[in-house]
Amino acid sequence: MNSIVENLSHVQLRIRTACKQHQRDFSSVRLIAVSKTKPATDVATAFNAGQVDFGENYLQEAALKVETLPAAQWHFIGAIQSNKTREIAERFSYVHGVSTLKVAKRLSDQRPRSLPPLGVFFQVNIDDEATKSGTSAEQLVGLIKACINLPQLSLLGLMAIPRASNDSLTQRRQFRKLALLRQSIATQLGLIDFKELSMGMSNDLEAAIAEGATWVRIGTAIFGPRNTNTLSTTIT
Ligand SMILES: *Cc1c(COP(=O)(O)O)cnc(C)c1O
Repeated sequence: MNSIVENLSHVQLRIRTACKQHQRDFSSVRLIAVSKTKPATDVATAFNAGQVDFGENYLQEAALKVETLPAAQWHFIGAIQSNKTREIAERFSYVHGVSTLKVAKRLSDQRPRSLPPLGVFFQVNIDDEATKSGTSAEQLVGLIKACINLPQLSLLGLMAIPRASNDSLTQRRQFRKLALLRQSIATQLGLIDFKELSMGMSNDLEAAIAEGATWVRIGTAIFGPRNTNTLSTTIT
């Protein structure tokens, strides 16, 4: 069997095992295969093995892959520059890193009316790290409130990339923060569909599932180590 196909089924097994351990339905956790730095042929291999959702960080690099496989569901998971919002709004089904009103407004304005609303996750800087994008927990309610009436956005939930840790209790504590924030915002703002939690990567998906992740974003465990040479030429 091809190693990507093998890796994919191993990741699915990890998700299934974590779901079982935490009394969750397997279908409540969805998998985004993060294909950044990987060629379109790798994406096609995973797609042909049944993987539908793919995540990309860099627009320029994603364009060809999205064109090659329009039947896949594309998630933009990278940092969003406001001069790139049109391409994101036109090519992707979901955006995981919204953290400013300016970007949210542009995405809504630029989302073609012929497409369903763009699925939006707000990124929270859960460790308050100076170097990381995302809004602070304090600013989050105001931001989301201001986005409720943007017509071409569907506000789905929260996303975070906690500081890397190999300790599962530390991982869970950070994911729990995000889960509690989501709950509190959904209640405060009366958002009944604000249910999604995009959290968990190759190294911490079990902890994320334990704390309620509904989307996990997995790169290395499916596609292998990133091609750093590709990365350096495609960062814009
Ligand atoms: C690269 C990336 C991932 C995948 O990380 P892995 O550790 O390779 O699974 C997930 N989320 C975001 C936002 C990423 O940039």
